[in-house]
Amino acid sequence: MRVVELEDVVKRYDSGGETVEALKGVSLHVDRGEMVTVVGPSGSGKSPMMNIIGLLDTPTEGTVRVEGEDVTDYTSDQLTEKRRSSIGFVFQAFHLLPMLTAVENVELPSMWDTTVDRHDRAIDLLERVGLGDRLEHTPDQLSGGQRQRVAIARALINEPDLLIADEPTGNLDQTTGGKILDELTRLKEVENIAIVSVTHDEQLESYADRVVRLVDGVIQ
Ligand code: ADP
Ligand code: MG
Repeated sequence: MRVVELEDVVKRYDSGGETVEALKGVSLHVDRGEMVTVVGPSGSGKSPMMNIIGLLDTPTEGTVRVEGEDVTDYTSDQLTEKRRSSIGFVFQAFHLLPMLTAVENVELPSMWDTTVDRHDRAIDLLERVGLGDRLEHTPDQLSGGQRQRVAIARALINEPDLLIADEPTGNLDQTTGGKILDELTRLKEVENIAIVSVTHDEQLESYADRVVRLVDGVIQ
């Protein structure tokens, strides 16, 4: 099952009267239970591609499908709804709110959802990533690896089909990064989640099922 698919995606930006073509006809798909890692030099178009895969931006040309559904012409409200229900994000800088506890940080993206017991689910997710004994800790009371595990739990609160991980090990030492990669591997194998990551980290590359190389807006 294809979780996300880009077909012939072109992305152009206008900046100061000049047009930059950041993606020049990119086609890519990510399946359930698969980790695809995107590598490429700075300026090659990785961020524009991840923004389109994450439904944070739309292509200038081409097609985007999520679970077989063509979302290319969705309004921004429709994209937001789809993003909430299908996609989780993990960033290099964790982006946890400093005054909230671990469990409150995990609950945060589900505040709009009144149909579920968010608190219990947040606790369950933190237990699953090995932080059952750190529920009430604030980010400054946690190590870098623990913060990233909180961020992973938070990304999973809405039960996404796709996890987008932008340099998820970028701020971590190799051992801690390895543990985060083991956790991502477990998620894809046990929960059958699709993962797209961007990295400069060769360790992360070695965990990928598929490595996609982007150079100057083109997949090599
Ligand atoms: P990467 O993530 O691989 O480093 P970039 O983010 O640098 O790629 O994007 C590739 C090109 O697209 C660059 O020339 C960059 O200036 C341009 N670009 C990316 N995002 C935007 C944006 N939001 N507005 C204007 N230009 C952008
Ligand atoms: Mg970038």
